[in-house]
Amino acid sequence: MTNIFRNLTAALGAVLLAAPFAGPVMADDHGDSHSDDAAPKWSIAIHGGAGTIRRDLMTAEQEAQYEAALQEALDAGAKVLAEGGTAMEAVQAAIIPMEDSPLFNAGRGAVFTWEGENELDASIMDGRDRSAGAVTGVTTVKNPILLADRVRTDSPHVFLMGEGAEQFASEQGFEVTDPEWFATQRRRESLERMKADALSAMDVDLKFGTVGAVALDMEGNLAAGTSTGGMTGKRWGRIGDAPVIGAGTYADNRSCAVSATGWGEFFIRVGVAQEICTRIRIASHPRYVECPEDAFGPDTVFVTCSVRGVSVEDAQGISDEVMAEVAELGGDGGIILVTPEGHALYSFNTAGMYRGRANSDGMNEVAIFGGEETGTGEPPDH
Ligand code: ASP
Repeated sequence: MTNIFRNLTAALGAVLLAAPFAGPVMADDHGDSHSDDAAPKWSIAIHGGAGTIRRDLMTAEQEAQYEAALQEALDAGAKVLAEGGTAMEAVQAAIIPMEDSPLFNAGRGAVFTWEGENELDASIMDGRDRSAGAVTGVTTVKNPILLADRVRTDSPHVFLMGEGAEQFASEQGFEVTDPEWFATQRRRESLERMKADALSAMDVDLKFGTVGAVALDMEGNLAAGTSTGGMTGKRWGRIGDAPVIGAGTYADNRSCAVSATGWGEFFIRVGVAQEICTRIRIASHPRYVECPEDAFGPDTVFVTCSVRGVSVEDAQGISDEVMAEVAELGGDGGIILVTPEGHALYSFNTAGMYRGRANSDGMNEVAIFGGEETGTGEPPDH
């Protein structure tokens, strides 16, 4: 009986149950996935950086500008998913407008290095096969997220830096963009102020402006991407977490997709993105529960189904725990996350985070300050 039971449950694999899990789109042991009518068919979350983002520090006009830019990015990603595009395509579609917007610290509007340049980092990961691409120290590629993806698809490597990355870009037909495209007066002034007043990057900026997106597509596949200029005044070839797979970006169909923003050194030390996904994967080992009566037709004798997944509360709890570890070490920032079940959530230990999320069930929100959102995702410390 035990063997029969095991065989049956193994054969069933990941069975779809709506009841205890808010959106059952589940990955089985092979990274394949299945979907269910009751689940959001697709889901996306974006961020444009976390930090000391408080209403009293912003004008109403600035707030409206950020909201519009976030909505544009969210809409671009959601459109891809709603039309049946892949999570990988959606992540890139959402990140490109934020790279092109001078409001965020990615692409145009990136912060300046100590030497007065804009050095760009980006990474992307596909949850289907955990293929990944990343670039760091790029100065002439307009949309570094596209180059990161090309590293994934057209090179035998995961991570390219500086001149080599640009040589690869030109061999791949990427246009050479004038570095002036990335430079904005606001960011130049931040560097000047930092030098004049001997301020840290944190003091001068008060916020991180990295951008990122995570998505679940209608095939049940996950993807994550992140793009940044790093931190103001970075030098000695400093690289933050954003282009580091496992720190700033991670996606695995078995667990989750994460993109981070914050004080990169701490996110690297904690391995934030992968740490969250690993904890979720372990927490979502198959559980055996009673099958719905009509699951397999009238002739079946099975009484047990296996289910994978975590509840939204568990996913939130795990994310908050890992972010609490970042805070304990002295770091701050936040993450966005999507699970195979379609839960999209945020966790941040800063006053605010530029963020948004949308899904096939009609969720569509952008938020800036702590605790604004309609659903879960309230930061642990506020
Ligand atoms: N995490 C980025 C870095 O450390 C900064 C950011 O999030 O804006 O380079």
